[in-house]
This record gives sequence, C-alpha cells and structure tokens, in this order.
Amino acid sequence: MIDLHTHTTASDGRCTPRELVARARAAGVTVLSVTDHDTVAGLAPAADACEDAGIEFVPGIEITAVRDAADVHLLGYFIDPAAPELAAFLAAQRQKRLDRVGRIIARLEQLGMPLDGEAILRPALEHAGTSIGRPAIARALVSGGYVASTNDAFDAWLARGRPAFVAREGATPENVIAQIHAAGGIASMAHPGLLGRDLWIAALVAAGLDAIESYHTNHDEAATKRYRAVAAQYGLAVSGGSDFHGDESHGAPNPGSVSLPQEEFDQLRRRAASRATASGSNVSS
Ligand code: AMP
Ligand code: ZN
Ligand code: FE
Ligand code: FE
Repeated sequence: MIDLHTHTTASDGRCTPRELVARARAAGVTVLSVTDHDTVAGLAPAADACEDAGIEFVPGIEITAVRDAADVHLLGYFIDPAAPELAAFLAAQRQKRLDRVGRIIARLEQLGMPLDGEAILRPALEHAGTSIGRPAIARALVSGGYVASTNDAFDAWLARGRPAFVAREGATPENVIAQIHAAGGIASMAHPGLLGRDLWIAALVAAGLDAIESYHTNHDEAATKRYRAVAAQYGLAVSGGSDFHGDESHGAPNPGSVSLPQEEFDQLRRRAASRATASGSNVSS
C-alpha cells in the first residue's frame, strides 16, 4: 500500500506523527508521505518512526495557494525539509493562517458564538512550526455546543459563502510550484475533483506542474479515471493518497484506505529524480 497524502498534529490531523505511522503500519502501508498544510514540522518525527517501522518515507507537504478566491492545494514530494527559502515561505503562510483564524474567531463572537481564542491559537503560538486552520475553530464550535459536528461547523459557518467565512490571502499556484521546485521537490495538484476547476490545469502545467493527484478519498472511480487521463494528456505523473486526518467525522477512515499503484509511484519517483538531476540538487527519500 502506498499512501502519499496524510496529515498530523503539525497541522489539522489528530494523530501525532508517531501515531500516524503506527496506524499506517497496522493498515499495511509500505510507502508513506506526510503532507501537512504549510508546514514540514511533522516530517522529521515521521521519518524516524517510519524507519523504525520499516516503511519507506517520502517527505511531503500540502501548500494552500489562491486563485480567483478559490483555494488550490498543491502537494510537494521529495522536498528538502531544511531548504531555507521554503522555510521562510511557509512561515509567512502560517502567519497568514494565524491572522485569518483570529479574524474568524472575532466574526463568530459578533455572531453570538464567543470562543476561547487563546486556546485555539495556542498550539501555533507555542510551536512556530505548527500550522492552524478552520478545523481548529470547527472543533471549538463543537466543544462549545454551537454545532453537532465539524461538518456542521463548516456547512453552517466556516465554508465559503457562510456567515463566518473570511477570505484568505495567499500565494499564487505558480509561486507555490516554484517554491516546491526550489526545495528540490516535485509538485502535484491535490484532489482536483474537490476543486472542480479543470480549466486551470493547463496554466499549472505551463508553470511546471509535475503530477496530478488522481487517486483520492473524494474521487470516485470515474474521477480517478478522468484525472489519470488528464495526467496522460499533459505527460504528467500521477499521485494519490487517503488524505487521512485521524478524524472520524472527516475524510478517510485509515491511512492506506486509498493506495497509489506501484507503477505510478515508480513513475513519480523517476520524475523527481530527473527534476533533481536537471536542477543539480539531490533527491532525498
Ligand atoms: P483551512 O486550512 O483553514 O483552509 O481549512 C481547510 C481544511 O479543513 C482542509 O484541510 C480540510 O481537510 C479541512 N476540512 C474541510 N471540511 C472539513 C470538515 N467538514 N470537518 C473537518 N475538517 C474539514
Ligand atoms: Zn486538512
Ligand atoms: Fe487538501
Ligand atoms: Fe490534505
């Protein structure tokens, strides 16, 4: 089983890197990538745990870009977690997340739903590498008794078009792809079926996109087939994974519940190796 899309407590996942790797091992995962939102803080502990568990580890990330007020999630693979330029870029992304979460909390207070903002922000303030987002607010809304589930929190208040939604500021997809390349990695467009903006793919390919995440929890068989065809049409590799968050009410039930076929992974790895050769840097794995 090859799962190249998972989250930990370094962003909005509920498992620590070690817990995630234990769950992955129990599920039979043989190759794992941790792809937290806008942070590499989970990669070192996950790499150590994978080594102990005999799982091949791929350093990854999921970066949020913005186009026409829509969030475009870009996955980076085989990145160098220590690349200084990437670190500075991600620190700025996380600061914008903090600002946005603070504004959403203020909006909710105006709407009659006061939350303990300090408690929500604390993990990110105490650990600069920890990335925060709307799920932390969704959980606080559940704890506060304002909604029954995090899904309801998004549907009623936090999603685009809902009363507590605050638009995010962010980098363009082209900039994010360049950041991933500069850190020695390759870029894959995350869950295009969730985004629903296939017309944007051509511009991303022109900016150097390397792969498309064809296999994903929220892609049915038809979507997987379509995005494999789109990847083939543009000469791109294919990535895939569960997008496991360790959250019963949201997303995949287990790491490995979506698996990338071995031959697709081999192709993705070749793509990373040839990009590294072209840029003269090393591919870490
Ligand atoms: P943000 O990073 O602030 O834009 O929040 C988006 C994140 O919220 C994504 O990573 C999703 O995985 C997560 N998310 C989306 N819908 C839900 C939901 N219904 N419950 C929990 N998390 C969600
Ligand atoms: Zn997430
Ligand atoms: Fe995503
Ligand atoms: Fe994700």
